[in-house]
Amino acid sequence: MSRVGVLALQGDVREHLAMLGHLDVEGVEVRTPETLAAVDALVIPGGESTTIGKLAVRFGMLEPLRRAIEGGVPVYGTCAGMILLAGSVTEGDQPLLGVLDVVVRRNAFGRQNESFETDLEITGLDDKFHAVFIRSPWIEKVGGDVEVLASIDDHPVMVRQGRILATSFHPELAGDGRIHQMLIDTI
Ligand code: GLN
Repeated sequence: MSRVGVLALQGDVREHLAMLGHLDVEGVEVRTPETLAAVDALVIPGGESTTIGKLAVRFGMLEPLRRAIEGGVPVYGTCAGMILLAGSVTEGDQPLLGVLDVVVRRNAFGRQNESFETDLEITGLDDKFHAVFIRSPWIEKVGGDVEVLASIDDHPVMVRQGRILATSFHPELAGDGRIHQMLIDTI
């Protein structure tokens, strides 16, 4: 059985592990380079990207994560996880992995729309996906190798670049495992 790690520094780790529990994989918490080396794929959860980034630096995980992803370990970042994967953010300075060739705007949907839910059309899925957005980013700019799989008002909210998958929204909160399955299918 494949082992799928969830980066467990901060954020909604338990919800991702619960989702993985419904799929045909073993979900494990990843907090150290040793546990990272033992997984076949990795989820970076939502939470607060500045906190996750700082903790990754403090726990000596930023470089091991970067090397693992550059070495081809499939990874899926949700919300703050997407921010962490990005090359840059539109504002401020925070530790990033820089493996996904996008510019991300944090908290992009504005105060009125801090949290909302919508049924999204996603390339590669037959039926719409109920997407939960919580203080979500959108993607401001994509590089040439990045495929946009879903957008809201022309703002990409789901992208893929090789084995890197990222969504602005939270499938682990919607009880729909199809996007986690997309990650598992790339193992
Ligand atoms: N607003 C958070 C950030 O910028 C992300 C929110 C989330 O992961 N739900 O890091």
